[in-house]
Amino acid sequence: MHAVMEKAASAAITGEPRNQVEYIQQSREAHHYSPGIQKLYDLALSYFPDAEKGNQEGTPAVWSTGLMEAPLLYACDTIPMAVYDLGRLGSAVEAAELSENIFDMPKETCSMVSALIGEWYMRRNNSVKKVVALSTVCEPLNMGYEMIKEFGFDIHRVEQVIRPVHGGDERLEQMIKFLASELEDVAFFLTGKPVDEEKMRAEIKRLNRLMAKFREILKLRLKNPLYIKSLPTLFLLMGSAHYFGKPAEYEALLDQLIEELKTADFVPSPMGKIIPLTWVGARGLEFGVYKAVDDLGGALLSWFTPNPYDRVWNEDIPPLESMARFILDYFVTGSPVNQIKYIENMIEESGSKGMLFYTYIGCPYGGMHVELFRDHFHKKGVPSSGLEGSWQVGAPSGQLITRVRAFIEMLS
Ligand code: SF4
Repeated sequence: MHAVMEKAASAAITGEPRNQVEYIQQSREAHHYSPGIQKLYDLALSYFPDAEKGNQEGTPAVWSTGLMEAPLLYACDTIPMAVYDLGRLGSAVEAAELSENIFDMPKETCSMVSALIGEWYMRRNNSVKKVVALSTVCEPLNMGYEMIKEFGFDIHRVEQVIRPVHGGDERLEQMIKFLASELEDVAFFLTGKPVDEEKMRAEIKRLNRLMAKFREILKLRLKNPLYIKSLPTLFLLMGSAHYFGKPAEYEALLDQLIEELKTADFVPSPMGKIIPLTWVGARGLEFGVYKAVDDLGGALLSWFTPNPYDRVWNEDIPPLESMARFILDYFVTGSPVNQIKYIENMIEESGSKGMLFYTYIGCPYGGMHVELFRDHFHKKGVPSSGLEGSWQVGAPSGQLITRVRAFIEMLS
């Protein structure tokens, strides 16, 4: 039996949720007191089906990273479908198996790439066929985009640049100009014409407004961390980059959660006291890890993930330039050393006692970033624990849970 299926079978026996939907169901029940959280999960679960249906009925959608393209895509009247959230909202068990069995993917292929290719294969006849591929840090993923062309996907590549270390302002300005012109081409790919700058400017304002509300939620959560536990906070974070295809509803949801948090009764930890923590790295698919953190008395109060909610887009410059500057400031595309100051701020503001570093097994990029961060924070005396997970659904491995337990107990 395939290892992932074995795990799903054993989870079924032990009563652990077996897939993403079951974890969400469990989390919904745990947050029965919060209408906002119920709405959040409704939005998340309807995201892809509604975007796919809308696309068939004339509201275009496009696959993209779902991390920082929202202002450009919404300005092109196009719904972003977040590739990187496919596993959290898809069916990764079957997808990974398909890739391994049908495409004969080598075992050592990153599980994220395998699963994504499988997901697209399953969706080849009935989903959105356009893809905006930001050629970011990852060559395996770039190759994956090449492979899905044969299923009829229409791939538009955005050549990416990274923030230069040498060459001063002049070199940086050249790169910003280049990236802005690449982003302009995205608008041509989607609509056949240049982006409407006024519309994009309004979308940037919207993003900044929504991020301010998201930050307010995190601030209010400091006083009542378990009112919104880790899993829904992760979903809020995901939605902060694409609004689950429904910007107005996502904003109303943020407003509602702010109001709830202002008046909510304190939700105690099952362990008595709460250990504040910062999560750094990938956002993970093993929802059981988040549940374990909560159950063991931890609270993930700040998140340094591919959703840079702590940054503000410049509203006073041409919008494509603003987007290019934002991307060049962004940790996935440049030296992780540039990002240490942001993590330090998060630790300080959230009063975190420790950090959990999460990477996917076999990901050289994530692994190297995390090593650099760990080294820095180790020298500063901030305790941390490294978690290596995989792009899979179902219960996390016992080893991951043991690490989480040992770490939180050490900090208690
Ligand atoms: S986990 Fe790493 S190797 Fe895999 S797709 Fe993501 S960046 Fe690439």
